[in-house]
Amino acid sequence: MGKTVDVVALGGLGEFGMHIMAFCSEDAIIVVDCGLLFPEQELLGVDIVVPDVTFLLDNREKVKAIVLTHGHEDHIGALPFVLPYLNVPVYGSPFTLELVKRKLDEHGLLEDAILNEIHPGDTIQLGPFGVDFIAVTHSIVDSLALAIRTPAGLIIHTGDFKIDPSPIDEKHFDLHAFASYGEEGVLALFSDSTNAERAGYTPTERAVEDRFETIFRSAKGRVVVSCFSSAIHRMQIIVDTAKRHGRLVALLGRRMLSNVDIAQRLGALNVPAGLVIRPKEIKNHARNKVCVVASGCQGEPMSALARASVDQHKDVTIEGGDTVVLSSRMIPGNERAISRMMDHLYRRHAEVLYADGSTPPVHVSGHASAEELKIMMMLTKPRFFIPIHGSYRHLHSHAKLAEQTGVIRDKVIVAETGDIIRLDPEQAEIVGKAPVGRVLIDGGSLEEVADVVIRDRRHISEDGIVLPVIAINKQTGAIEIPPEMVFRGMTVTEDDELVEQCRQLVIDTIEESTVEERGDWAVIKEKVRRALKRYISKQLSTRPLILPVIMEI
Ligand SMILES: [Zn+2]
Ligand SMILES: [Zn+2]
Repeated sequence: MGKTVDVVALGGLGEFGMHIMAFCSEDAIIVVDCGLLFPEQELLGVDIVVPDVTFLLDNREKVKAIVLTHGHEDHIGALPFVLPYLNVPVYGSPFTLELVKRKLDEHGLLEDAILNEIHPGDTIQLGPFGVDFIAVTHSIVDSLALAIRTPAGLIIHTGDFKIDPSPIDEKHFDLHAFASYGEEGVLALFSDSTNAERAGYTPTERAVEDRFETIFRSAKGRVVVSCFSSAIHRMQIIVDTAKRHGRLVALLGRRMLSNVDIAQRLGALNVPAGLVIRPKEIKNHARNKVCVVASGCQGEPMSALARASVDQHKDVTIEGGDTVVLSSRMIPGNERAISRMMDHLYRRHAEVLYADGSTPPVHVSGHASAEELKIMMMLTKPRFFIPIHGSYRHLHSHAKLAEQTGVIRDKVIVAETGDIIRLDPEQAEIVGKAPVGRVLIDGGSLEEVADVVIRDRRHISEDGIVLPVIAINKQTGAIEIPPEMVFRGMTVTEDDELVEQCRQLVIDTIEESTVEERGDWAVIKEKVRRALKRYISKQLSTRPLILPVIMEI
C-alpha cells in the first residue's frame, strides 16, 4: 500500500450514533470507537442497533486495537457485541474504561477483555500508527480527541467535543495541542458535525448553574431533576446547588447510582459527606428539603421519573408545588414518550421545566456549534477535511462551514458510512465501498433486559421467564435457523416436548405473518409473545414473563 491509509466509517456518517471508524494501513487496522444506535422510534421493548463489522472480521488478523474517545453509548455500546468476535486490546480514559468494564461484566465478557488505560498526552504505537490523546471538553468526563500518525500523514479525529473555556472539572480543552499539530501539518481532520447547524458558540456547562440557582431558590416543594446518567458535570452542579439551598439529594435509577459511584471513585465528582440520602428516606424529609435526581429524561417507560409521574414509584410521588426539571435535550424519536410523561406531571400540578429555548438554560449541549467548529479547522489547518458524526444534512452543513473558513488547504470530502476514503500525502479520494450494515439486537443487551427483569422480579420468581430467540432475514422475512427456546425459573428441561411445541408455535406464528409484519420487530414480538403466553398458560397453568429476542441476520 505504500504511503496510503484507508479510512472507513462502519457507522456514524449519515446517521446519528453507531460511531465506529477503521484506519487501515500496511496490513494493520485500528478501530476508533465502537458504538450503538438507539432506534428512532418509541421504546418498544429493548431494541438496540449495532454496526455490522464484517469488514473487520474479514480482516481480523490485521486489527490491532479499538481506541475509545469517550464513554457515551454511541461510542462504546457495541463493544459487547463486537469483542466476542474480535478480542483485541481496548484503549480508553479512566472513566470511559470504567463504563466499559461494567458493560462487559454485565455480558460476562470482562475476564477476557484486554483494557488499557490512557490519559491525555499519552502516545501509543499500534503497528504503523502512533496515536496521541488530546483532552477535549464534552458532556461526559474524560473525553479525548486523537492525533493519529499514519504512513500518509497526521490525522486528527476530534471525537465528540465542544470548546468549553470554563469546564466544571477544570480539565481544559487542549487548544494548544491542536494548534501545535496544526503547525506540524495535519493531513486530514475528521470532526464532529452534531451541532454544525447551530450558529454561534455552544454555552459553557456552567450556563445551567444560574438557572438551577433560580429554580432552587424559588422551589416550594421537591425539586426533581432528570438528566443523562453519564452527565457527571451536570450532577456536580445539581449537588452543589442542592447543598447551597439546604436540600438533601436522593439518586434514583440503578445506572445513575452506579455512574455516581464510579465518578466519585475516580475523583470526577465531589459529593459532600452526608448529603446523599437513600430513596426510601425521601419521605422522612420535608418536601422543600429534598432534591431528587432521577433517570428518565427521555420518558423511558421503566425509568424512575416515568414511574413517579404515574404514581408508580415506591419512594417518590409528585404533587402540586413540586418542580420537575428535564435537564437534557429530547432525543429525536422520544418526543412522544417525553410529552406523555410531561402531561402526567402537569396533571399532578407540578411545575415542569425543560429545554424550551429559554435562558439561562436548564440544559446545554456537549457538542460544538458553528464557530467552535471553525476554530477547530483554524487550529489544525488540515489539507483534507471530512465531517463525521451526523446525518447527511449535518455533514453537508459542516462542509459548508469549512468552505467559509478558507483554511482547508485542499478539499472537503463528504463521505457516508461504508465509503473507503484513501489518503496519501498528496491526495484523498473515495475509492470504494466496504460492507456495512446494521444488526438489530432485541433484548440482547443484558442491562436493558435486567431493567425489565427487576420490574417483574415478583412475576419471574413465581412464574419464570421464557426467551424465544428468533433469527429473521430482514429482506426476505425467512426464519434463518430454528428458533431457540430458553426457559428460566421453570420446571422445563431441554428435551421436554413443550420446548419443541413452543418452537413450532413460534415458527407457525411468524409464517402466518405477512412479510411486512415480519419486518416490524414490534409486531412480530407482540404476536409471538401472545401466542406463547396463551399456549404456555394452557399447558402449564403459569404465566411466565415472555421476552422474544429477534435478531436480524
Ligand atoms: Zn457521540
Ligand atoms: Zn458523546
